[in-house]
Amino acid sequence: MVHGLSKSKLMSFRQCPRKLWLEKHRPDLAAEIPGQQAVFALGHEVGDIARRLYDTGGGVLIDYDDGLKVAMQRTREVLAERSSAPVFEATFERNGLLVRTDVLERGGPAARLVEVKASTSVKPEHVVDCAIQSWVLDGSSVRPRSVALAHVDNRFIYAGAGDYSGLLTEQDLSAEIAPIKEKVPAWVGSARGVLAGGEPAAAIGTRCWTPYECPFQDHCWKPVDHSIADLPGIGGRLDQLLAEGHFELGALPEDLLNTADQRRVWRAVRRGTPELSLAARREFSGLGYPRCYLDFETINFAVPRWAGTRPYQQLPFQWSLHVEGAHGELEHAEFLDLSGELPLRAAAQSLLAAARGKGPVFMYTAFERTCLKTLAEFCPDLREQLETLSARLVDLLPIAKRHYYHPDMHGSWSIKKLLPTIAPELDYSRLGGIQEGGAAQQAFLEAIAPGTSATRRNEIRRELLAYCGQDTLAMVTVARYLEGRS
Ligand code: SF4
Repeated sequence: MVHGLSKSKLMSFRQCPRKLWLEKHRPDLAAEIPGQQAVFALGHEVGDIARRLYDTGGGVLIDYDDGLKVAMQRTREVLAERSSAPVFEATFERNGLLVRTDVLERGGPAARLVEVKASTSVKPEHVVDCAIQSWVLDGSSVRPRSVALAHVDNRFIYAGAGDYSGLLTEQDLSAEIAPIKEKVPAWVGSARGVLAGGEPAAAIGTRCWTPYECPFQDHCWKPVDHSIADLPGIGGRLDQLLAEGHFELGALPEDLLNTADQRRVWRAVRRGTPELSLAARREFSGLGYPRCYLDFETINFAVPRWAGTRPYQQLPFQWSLHVEGAHGELEHAEFLDLSGELPLRAAAQSLLAAARGKGPVFMYTAFERTCLKTLAEFCPDLREQLETLSARLVDLLPIAKRHYYHPDMHGSWSIKKLLPTIAPELDYSRLGGIQEGGAAQQAFLEAIAPGTSATRRNEIRRELLAYCGQDTLAMVTVARYLEGRS
């Protein structure tokens, strides 16, 4: 049996032959990748805008609803017409390899192929993607004279009124893809060979999440409590260590560890106990009261919706603030804007009113500093006060990293990994609804969508407030634990 291939299947083969085989023969083994649907939605949003930007008049979109054969037939018909209008999603096949092209420009002596990506730069996998498409089109009547990749320009500032000219920027890849194109026929042959055989063996390693998160990790990785992938900063050495036969972290020889962090993680796993350095307490000495604990939730649109904002700019729509008095008493303040209007001024004003005093403002990662900078950028009259607030920020993450590790954190000091090891009763799973930042962003988008009912919006409001409030309560808990006050 000759297996048909799509560009995405060939890309899977390039990442890992076993991934291709599993996608085709055992898709039931694939786990859901968190955030995948949001990534697809983002790609579609950028694709829609690209069609508007590249449509110089009379552009034709090739429909795929009636299947591959109809799409290819329709492509042939459209290309046979004497027109210079661009074609979107034109569908081609060469030697059983199927591709759909984002933009095919026909003005001038020969066609020009443009692949559109929602990223803000050209990545190595994009070059391969373009090479595959170009090879297929070289076998058709089209033979594009050049191939470019259009990606989001993160310097673009949206002027409003639906004017997105300048959102995308192009890089010509014609020269870069030329030597890669020559390899495509061999890839197609090898991929077909893999599909025709039994499940192939494949070395696990960084390929399992590079360039794309592979959904078959539960199938391929041995279920052990702690693998060497837990080691912080292991990077590309992971492949080498796996190839040398190392897998279980506790069995790794100590002389193969490179950093103090790696040694600490390894030690904690070998002993099966957490490590907390008493020196952590010194980090808090001299920090007065009241102490604030601040967390923002933000939205970042690939295609900006609010005038004056940039693609992927992190725009705070919510904050939570716990304020702790000298005797441990806690007060809570919060802000959430689900109006769908630019929320920055209201967020800044309410925060400045709530974060009173001169004591430290704890954050977890430096993200809150970036958020305050964004608020200051949009509210120049509040800049001085926001900068004063920013000067009070103290990052809890490096303190935790220097002084605490529990084997259950699996090499990560994220607050969601750390919290259950010191306060299991506060685990995020108890929230039920929103439990992580990506879900908070999706919920925000749903809440501001015009078709969302008031009942659903209120439900989302409750869940968002609970989630963000949990983040700052978690920070209070972590700070008290590190300081020996819990
Ligand atoms: S988990 Fe890794 S080894 Fe398994 S199919 Fe995916 S990329 Fe290949």
